[in-house]
Amino acid sequence: MMRQLGIMGLPRNYEIFYEALAGTSPELSLSVIALSNRPTQDELDRIGQKFFAHNHTRSIVEQARDVLARELEDVAAMLRSERTHIEKYGRILDETSSGLKERNVLSRELLEKIVGAISTATASTLDHGRRVATALNDKTNELETVKSKLEEYKRLADTDPLTHIWNRRAFDTEIARIYNSNRGILFNALILADIDSFKNINDRFGHPAGDKIIKSVASIFHSSVPAGMFVARTGGEEFALIVDGATEDATFEIAERIRTLVEQTCFTCDKAGTDCGPVTISMGICMASEASGPEELYAKADRALYRSKVEGRNRVTRHSSMPGRPGKNWMLYKTE
Ligand code: GH3
Ligand code: MG
Ligand code: MG
Repeated sequence: MMRQLGIMGLPRNYEIFYEALAGTSPELSLSVIALSNRPTQDELDRIGQKFFAHNHTRSIVEQARDVLARELEDVAAMLRSERTHIEKYGRILDETSSGLKERNVLSRELLEKIVGAISTATASTLDHGRRVATALNDKTNELETVKSKLEEYKRLADTDPLTHIWNRRAFDTEIARIYNSNRGILFNALILADIDSFKNINDRFGHPAGDKIIKSVASIFHSSVPAGMFVARTGGEEFALIVDGATEDATFEIAERIRTLVEQTCFTCDKAGTDCGPVTISMGICMASEASGPEELYAKADRALYRSKVEGRNRVTRHSSMPGRPGKNWMLYKTE
């Protein structure tokens, strides 16, 4: 298909077509269907940037790396030429002073010659130094631009394009940080949330309406937690909150508050303001101290979330309160 459309076999193009055909995002599939007969790489990159910011970012990072290498080479060349210049100046001074030592009497003519040579060499060295300083200043500005571009793309790579909150990539780094820092893990917790029966919502109101609900739920999360608390969209209709500085009871209260807010929010799914009916979320919480690392913490919070689903959805379950070991297969409850 890519060959027929004259599309280059780049990994980032394959990713677009693979995901579009796999149907993981209907919006992506629609964007690919809407492509012209001979799509340009720019058109494809715009799609890539929207749906796979990480890959787009990778190519930007590669470009920035090339610019950096070039700029550093220029700076090194400038410093080398400055060193050569200064060494030459030093030699002139050395030769002049040894010439002076060898003579007892200096004629006025010779003195004028020496002073002339030193002052020419000094002026040339100063001039060269000034030019290097100006060029270095320009390079510093260029490097500052590269730096801020890289920072901007790093932010982009860590941001979910639909909701503009953190994405799974940023979440993985952040959750690992709990166990890597030496601040202790006593008051850290993970809250996982998943929108209930979201497939039905998509089926009834359409995918764009579903997207709108995901965005609204994300903004409820974002606006109802204390500033600085880490909120991410970790999957399609899944969210995670990393709690810092709260006991288990306080963590439970945070989760309950968000769950209630979502339950009480009236979600509209089109411009006419049609009510999509109640939207609810199920949540699972686990204190960081109950796990020995990020994977275990995630798995335990996920099991608590699973229990919330099994017990009827629209509820919060603490991992610590779960009776025995839950079933091994997370997806089993779906066949109920
Ligand atoms: P449960 O209560 O057990 O979580 O049921 P569910 O229907 O929410 O769960 P399921 O995993 O069966 O379905 C999740 C659905 O979310 C299926 C998928 O199409 C949809 N989805 C995933 N990502 C997106 C997205 O970005 N936008 C929209 N609109 N839907 C999405
Ligand atoms: Mg889900
Ligand atoms: Mg769901």
